[in-house]
Amino acid sequence: MSRTNASLSKQITYLSLAFGIVLTIGLGCFGWWAASRIDDRSTQRETRAISRGLKEIVDRVSVDQETSTVWDESVINLRINNEAWLAENLAEWISEYFGHDRVYILDPANRPIRSVHDGALAEPGAYEEDKPVVDPLVEALRADMASASAGLADSTSAITGLGKQDFVTLGDGVTAFVSVRPVLPSSDAVPQAPGTEFLFISVLEVDQSIADQIGMVHDVSGMRFEEDAEAGGERMASPLLNAKGRILGFFTWTPNRPASQLIRETAFPVALGVIFVALAVALLLRRLARTSKILEETKAEASFLAFHDPLTGIPNRALFEDRLDQALANMRRTGTKIALHFIDLDRFKHVNDTLGHPAGDELIRQAAKRLSAMVDEVDTVARLGGDEFAIVQFDAGEEARAMELSQKVVDAFATPFDIAGSQANIGASVGLIVTSDTQVRAEELMRQADIALYGAKDSGRGRYQMFVGELDEAVRERRALEADLRAALAEEKGLSLVYQPIYQIHSTGIVGAEALVRWDHPVHGRVSPVAFIGLAEERGMIEQLGLWILRKACTFAAASTLPWVAVNVSPLQFRDEHFAQKVFSVLELTGLAPKRLEIEITEGLLLQNSPQIQSTLRLLRARGIRIALDDFGTGYSSISYLRNHGIDKLKIDQSFTAQLGVDGEIGSIVQSIVDLGRAMRMIVTAEGVETPAQRKILEAIGCHQLQGYMLAKPQPPEELLALLQSHRQTMAAAG
Ligand code: C2E
Ligand code: MG
Ligand code: MG
Repeated sequence: MSRTNASLSKQITYLSLAFGIVLTIGLGCFGWWAASRIDDRSTQRETRAISRGLKEIVDRVSVDQETSTVWDESVINLRINNEAWLAENLAEWISEYFGHDRVYILDPANRPIRSVHDGALAEPGAYEEDKPVVDPLVEALRADMASASAGLADSTSAITGLGKQDFVTLGDGVTAFVSVRPVLPSSDAVPQAPGTEFLFISVLEVDQSIADQIGMVHDVSGMRFEEDAEAGGERMASPLLNAKGRILGFFTWTPNRPASQLIRETAFPVALGVIFVALAVALLLRRLARTSKILEETKAEASFLAFHDPLTGIPNRALFEDRLDQALANMRRTGTKIALHFIDLDRFKHVNDTLGHPAGDELIRQAAKRLSAMVDEVDTVARLGGDEFAIVQFDAGEEARAMELSQKVVDAFATPFDIAGSQANIGASVGLIVTSDTQVRAEELMRQADIALYGAKDSGRGRYQMFVGELDEAVRERRALEADLRAALAEEKGLSLVYQPIYQIHSTGIVGAEALVRWDHPVHGRVSPVAFIGLAEERGMIEQLGLWILRKACTFAAASTLPWVAVNVSPLQFRDEHFAQKVFSVLELTGLAPKRLEIEITEGLLLQNSPQIQSTLRLLRARGIRIALDDFGTGYSSISYLRNHGIDKLKIDQSFTAQLGVDGEIGSIVQSIVDLGRAMRMIVTAEGVETPAQRKILEAIGCHQLQGYMLAKPQPPEELLALLQSHRQTMAAAG
């Protein structure tokens, strides 16, 4: 998920970058293209304006000429060569008034009769210099005139409007416009015989002043007329052609490039704008990247939390199941074996109860660390909950390798943990299943590993067990029984206490009774306490069950005339450092005097020789509660243990009682137990007295108290009360 997010932000960044670059290049190209188009158009317009301007100027020359050449007076005065008049009204006047640089008047034989340069009369030979270039025009006009007026008496109307003009290069190298027109009468009053016409020639030099004029009128800047010019750079050039298309010179100018100019003028603000937009986009993209990064991290965190145990940081059950599926898929593909290890800490609850929950948490963390250090990188260590862990071994190779790992786990947990400044001996049990079965499903595998784990716990903990099919049925039954016991305990249904009276020897009086728990299972009927007490111990229910029994027995005894009640206490209950305190509260709650309570413990408890157990026993005895050592003789208690712990009573195990009178050696052992008890000022009780012979022997060797089927079986409370009642009556009657 986070990947798509990251790539999305990257995609957007790259896309915007690409889009930005393409857009910028595109806009740039378009701008450049449009600008050059606009500039080209402008240049074309200028070129057109120049030729139009030139045409306007040269067209005016003929108009200027006609103001005086189509005039009766001119014809008359030419014919008489009235020089003064010609100067004042025709030649000099036109040159002067209209600015025609050179003016020539030719007679009908094409001889120059008057030459004017710049408004002043020139030398008679002035025409000769220009003649070679002007002559062709003169000849052409004469030819036109002749053909137009051929056969006519008067040529006026036929040749009116005729004229020749062209651009030329004059003899002195000056470029000029030449216009030749006939001088004609303006009315019929003056006859004009064909071939007798005078010609009027105007020469307008094409020079800088013409260029200036055109530039000014048509708004073209830097206009110049040049003989030779090359377009290029900043300047443009337009050729001046004569009628035959020969280039006579060039008009050059500085083109007005409006678009380029606009670009130059706006370049700075536009660049600023572009930079600003680019910055804004960059900022937006950065923000987008950051947001998506945060989003990514949040997602990663969320998915981490969803798939990891918050306490240890290792995979949780969900991820474990996923990895197991992966391992199975891998196994099906590659044909390798996979292994599943289920791990349960053996005495975790004890740490939690005695050192507190923070210590328990610390223990779980350390356990996770130990496990994680043990596996290959591909393997998964997960916490399934509480003190349960699992390892998925991806490629177990041979079974031996998986077993090796299981053993390593067991060994690793055999080493104590340093928790809250004290050493905690925990231990772990491991259930192992190794498979290459391509049909097996994950749930099935987990169930099998769980069964194997039960097996490991069952056969003594601190070990691993491989799954073997047969175990299945027995374990299932045991698990069902566990669930039933839990329910029975929670609902207080099916559980009850019976009381077996204990008698003083040599008398018939009941001195006390031992409370024994019974469980009537809805399906299996009465279940032996030997079976379900062990189960409760194993599955962590003994504290609750033990306390319930204690409360029940004390309540019963407090309300009866029973001198005292003996309650069996499991060694596991002594792990609770507050056990003595809990017993005191029960006494207070039920109102039973401490001296009316006897607690039966087993030898195994003394063998643990722990300071905490010693202090608990001391506390209980200090209150006046008596401690009885049950099933004495079956364990390994030494005299020193008995002395150290301070025991009030020894209960000879029924296996000894059963052999009395049968096995002589046993008789001696029992004798020495009684002697030992008497020497240490302890009461000695014999259990399992079934025959008068046994009773006799026990009496003989000085046993204090007797308990057994021969005297009384364990009784339901009401029956014991009745028994107490009848005894009292017999005693009273006897007394
Ligand atoms: P225990 O404490 O040694 O209890 C005496 C057992 O001997 C009882 O068996 C009792 O019914 C049986 N018994 C008594 N007289 C005779 C006899 O003459 N012949 C024979 N063969 N047996 C006799 P039960 O009730 O089945 O209890 C078995 C064991 O279960 C107890 O041995 C005790 O260790 C444990 N247990 C029973 N109730 C409790 C309890 O409330 N709490 C704990 N922690 N353990 C209990
Ligand atoms: Mg007992
Ligand atoms: Mg016993």
